[in-house]
Amino acid sequence: MADLSIKTRDDDEICEHIEALESNMQVRTFDWAKENTGSWNRAGLDKLAPRLGDAFSALDAKIELIKTDPFEKISNKGTVEAFETGAVIRISARPDATSQIIMSGHYDTVFPPETFTDIQALGDDKFNGPGLADMKGGISVMLGALQAFEAGPLKDKLGYQIIITPDEETGNFASAPFLTKAAQSGAMIGMTYEPCMDTGAMSGGRKGSAVFDVILHGRSAHAGRAKEDGRSALEAAASMVVALENLNGKHDGVTFNVGSIDGGSAVNIVPDMAIVRFGARAPDAASAAWATAQVDELLKVAQARDGISGHVHGGFYRPPKPRNDAQQTLFDAVADTGRAIGLELEFVDTGGVCEGNNIFAAGVPNVDTLGVMGGRIHSDEEYVIMSSFVERAQLSGLLLNRIADGRLDAAKIKAMMG
Ligand SMILES: [Zn+2]
Repeated sequence: MADLSIKTRDDDEICEHIEALESNMQVRTFDWAKENTGSWNRAGLDKLAPRLGDAFSALDAKIELIKTDPFEKISNKGTVEAFETGAVIRISARPDATSQIIMSGHYDTVFPPETFTDIQALGDDKFNGPGLADMKGGISVMLGALQAFEAGPLKDKLGYQIIITPDEETGNFASAPFLTKAAQSGAMIGMTYEPCMDTGAMSGGRKGSAVFDVILHGRSAHAGRAKEDGRSALEAAASMVVALENLNGKHDGVTFNVGSIDGGSAVNIVPDMAIVRFGARAPDAASAAWATAQVDELLKVAQARDGISGHVHGGFYRPPKPRNDAQQTLFDAVADTGRAIGLELEFVDTGGVCEGNNIFAAGVPNVDTLGVMGGRIHSDEEYVIMSSFVERAQLSGLLLNRIADGRLDAAKIKAMMG
């Protein structure tokens, strides 16, 4: 491959164009952050989706707001409930161009309405506000890079599908099929806009993530008159929790964490239902299979108790994204590209997960922290670093240029996925 750390004339031009877009990128990020889009706030999601669609109409692309199917949630009563989230925004351009990419981002945040709404300057180039970094700022950077790219001479050589989702923070349960489909319609490289760290470091390998709900049924009885007739679902659940936590340290890189036990009621009733809710993380497909097998095994142990039945809901909704040859080659290419604008980019492995896991599982190598620099995400101290809008949009712009003119051989990297 060509030396990606050298800037061409097209590269200088895209960098200048992006500098001119700085306040544009920042102002629209603040506007979007003022609209609350907590993952369960359907009304807020419905308000922001068309505004995002309008913003992306600056591109030479087709824009669709697509209604999603309801997905299943296990209620505290152990019943399956349906939740319908907001629209998936799909933006597509030039499906016949030589190079094809998928880009993704999410417009939901972890903040329910009225929990964290204010935007304030922290000084030192930082602003605090909900979703400024994760990831309304990232969506804005993606758009800025594409606006500048499409104004340049390489536009016709690159096509894309962008998927902007309403439900990333809760696991992409409704939008995952859209990511998979877009990834599998010819995409060679994926670019996702989660924030990078405030040091500028980006994510390398990612573990896979599972969410499980184990629903256990026993038999209720009056605790005073007929305790012996009862079969406590909570007792079975408690023993399962201990066994799950004991799995930590048993398999390299695999962790389990029980988040809650639901069930039971008054102290004079033997509880006939309990739900054990837990997560698991695993670094590769084999260890994810091991973790899943352990869960099945523990369910059997619970069911072997007299009068206890149950079932498992959930599993690995985001497969692992290990640092394979294709990923490493792409990270190296991104790092070289960063050098063209004076960045020394580091890629750090993490237990966190994102849409990059889904895109990898669909067979497309990807880099998933192309968004703004920020920190304290998922807390009311979330902040964005203002100078990173231009820097990170330029990084993306240069990547688009390199993929379009073939200096970055996207097809070759994709082929390394095997
Ligand atoms: Zn995010």
